[in-house]
Amino acid sequence: MITTESKASSAIRTQGLIKRFRRVEALSGLDLDVPEGAVYALVGPNGAGKTTAIKILMNIYRATSGRAEVLGMDSTRVAGRVFQSIGYVSENQQMPGWMRVDDFFAYLRPFYPSWDRSLEGELLKKFDLPPDRKLKELSRGMSMKAALASALAFHPRLIVLDEPLGGLDPLVRDELVEGLLERAAEATVFISSHDLADIENFSSHVGYLERGRLVFSEEMTSLAARFRDVELTLDAPRAMPQSIPNSWMQVNAAAAVVRFVESRFDEQRTSAEIAGVFGPVRDATFSPMSLRSIFLAMAKSRRSSG
Ligand code: ATP
Repeated sequence: MITTESKASSAIRTQGLIKRFRRVEALSGLDLDVPEGAVYALVGPNGAGKTTAIKILMNIYRATSGRAEVLGMDSTRVAGRVFQSIGYVSENQQMPGWMRVDDFFAYLRPFYPSWDRSLEGELLKKFDLPPDRKLKELSRGMSMKAALASALAFHPRLIVLDEPLGGLDPLVRDELVEGLLERAAEATVFISSHDLADIENFSSHVGYLERGRLVFSEEMTSLAARFRDVELTLDAPRAMPQSIPNSWMQVNAAAAVVRFVESRFDEQRTSAEIAGVFGPVRDATFSPMSLRSIFLAMAKSRRSSG
């Protein structure tokens, strides 16, 4: 239920969002809540529905059913002047290729009352964009930088980026992320990406979308805290017990070593559960996991559980 209170603190909120394209259900009841001020990364495999969700939020697609709110308003009202508060960059951003970089920015300025000429200058310099080059003559990385600069130069309250980093070299990615983060202090950022290593470094929240549903959505710090790669050395090899806690994923044993991923880590509780399953163990290590390993573990265990 959307309450007035939660509305005030959510930059994006969806409820039971469903989108069908003929026989394909791209979104199957998406409930999303992006707190104001967050850098929220939406991740998930190809075809999970990320672009579809973003296009509904940006009022490019109509949802089949459910609700979506952007900056407190229904997403079907996101149009015209509302884009003075939203910087949106899509993966295949359409830009007027015949325009030079400087003419493009001069063309955009009047549409945005809050356009900041000095910020524009800073961004062009930071991204090393040649002012006299035609947009169609820019490389893919340069085009993305031009698109991002144009979406940041007017101090948007919300920045929505659909796969801005895909296929870019690491240097350009770093420049884009840096440019973005400098603005993140004054905005909410909603970004879809496959690049887990990048996301890990700069997101405050992460949502994992799979087959049109949000599998989880949480703060990056809490995600990092609850996952551990566990390795146990037992006194002697033994058969795997039938019953194990359901927060243990990918359990496997080789000789006297048992490994698994704990998805609800708490040192005391996990140790007690290990003792309950195996009795005393010779050694137990709990290693923090990268976002990439967490997602791989989840994707694999979801696949094997059907
Ligand atoms: P990727 O990471 O590959 O970009 P995604 O998570 O952004 O994927 P979407 O592009 O939202 O996924 O696609 C979700 C599902 O909806 C896919 O099965 C896709 O084929 C389908 N789909 C998306 N757009 C359309 C469309 N215009 N017509 C028909 N089906 C579509």
